[in-house]
Amino acid sequence: MSNTFEQFQLSGEIREALAGMKYEQATEVQSLVIPRLLEGSDVIVKAKTGSGKTAAFAVPMCEKAVWEENKPQALVLTPTRELAMQVKEDIQNIGRFKRLKAALLVGQQPAAPQRVELNQKVHIVTGTPGRVLDHIEKGTLNLENVKYVVLDEADEMLNMGFIDQVEHILAEVPKERITSLFSATLPQKVIKLSEKYMNEPEIIETVLEE
Ligand code: ADP
Ligand code: MG
Repeated sequence: MSNTFEQFQLSGEIREALAGMKYEQATEVQSLVIPRLLEGSDVIVKAKTGSGKTAAFAVPMCEKAVWEENKPQALVLTPTRELAMQVKEDIQNIGRFKRLKAALLVGQQPAAPQRVELNQKVHIVTGTPGRVLDHIEKGTLNLENVKYVVLDEADEMLNMGFIDQVEHILAEVPKERITSLFSATLPQKVIKLSEKYMNEPEIIETVLEE
């Protein structure tokens, strides 16, 4: 059965980038999530590590991002620096032919170069909750144009004690947005968070083993 990225309504720039990355077949989670995010629904996604969740949110995010806008349009929160870095790279690869720029805001790194980065044109911000909140509080990160928010590895983020920061950040993002939440598990505290900050999310669980 054909499960290529041609099944989605994607621009040539995004299709070409995926081909360049040798992404030929969409994974199960990508097939289920990409159309929902393209149409603007909030989703809660439960799927195992390695199932391709990054592209499931990065493809629709890059498809919808507009190069001309000067302020960040999307925000991805992850529990760790390494993951934020990986997500940033995937986003820049998928968005390369649209020349989308992602900024990395993570802790245990000097804030000054991050401020310099934020002073230039940035389409998408990826980062860990503590440092993202620092930039919001210092006025160096402006979220007023953010329309897409992703909570990646939400269970891990909450296990690591980031709940207050995550809630504070979500309260700073415009309500008119598409929010998606990705997690390997869906404990009650993750569901609680989604009820507070998401708009009638659909729960998507993968069934196949990858
Ligand atoms: P998860 O976030 O679910 O743990 P990732 O998004 O990190 O998974 O993807 C796992 C690996 O699979 C990465 O190396 C990624 O580049 C690769 N990958 C994701 N989607 C595809 C695809 N459609 N075709 C080929 N490789 C893919
Ligand atoms: Mg992941």
